[in-house]
Amino acid sequence: MPSPSIGVFALQGDVREHLRVLNDLGVDAVRVRRPEELARCDALVLPGGESTTMYKLARTFELFEPLVDRIRSGMPTFGTCAGMIMMADRLEDAAEGQETLGGLDITVRRNAFGRQVDSFEGELDFDGLGDPVHAVFIRAPWVEDLGEGVEPLATIPAGEAAGRIVAVRQGSLMATSFHPEVGGDDRIHRYFVDLVKQS
Ligand code: GLN
Repeated sequence: MPSPSIGVFALQGDVREHLRVLNDLGVDAVRVRRPEELARCDALVLPGGESTTMYKLARTFELFEPLVDRIRSGMPTFGTCAGMIMMADRLEDAAEGQETLGGLDITVRRNAFGRQVDSFEGELDFDGLGDPVHAVFIRAPWVEDLGEGVEPLATIPAGEAAGRIVAVRQGSLMATSFHPEVGGDDRIHRYFVDLVKQS
């Protein structure tokens, strides 16, 4: 696939930041608000934002089922923060009635780092990348548990949350607890674009 079209779920969240990074990488990146727009994409990014709002809007705009179908049928998908929550098969600390699209065989804990450390930044080793990435966490989830087919890509290196998994990959699905779309480091998006090109 020489030039894939990558959609960014655009009903809620930090859509512009993802579009900018993808465009700077020379990718044809487009907003996805309707099923017809999703149908034209080879791959998808689910941005950070608020997962409880995202699933409701996806239902309202009749994107929920098409998203579930595409993810199940192997469309490469990359979720960041709330996007990770949307891709999880199982949630801890979900809001009442909260639904996810699923696809990733993981249990994700929402707002896992607690109130005192709502937002923080730090350097993380990321599988396959030489130098550490600068990771920005905003009311972030972590991966509480993962299935056999899921590979951890990054963990918290030190402190109270040391060892917690904050990035995973399962085939052509990947997700990070943090926000690689902010901070000017495009290597994780590159990682996803490579994955899209290979699939
Ligand atoms: N805490 C948010 C949620 O539950 C996620 C925060 C984020 O995406 N930065 O959806």
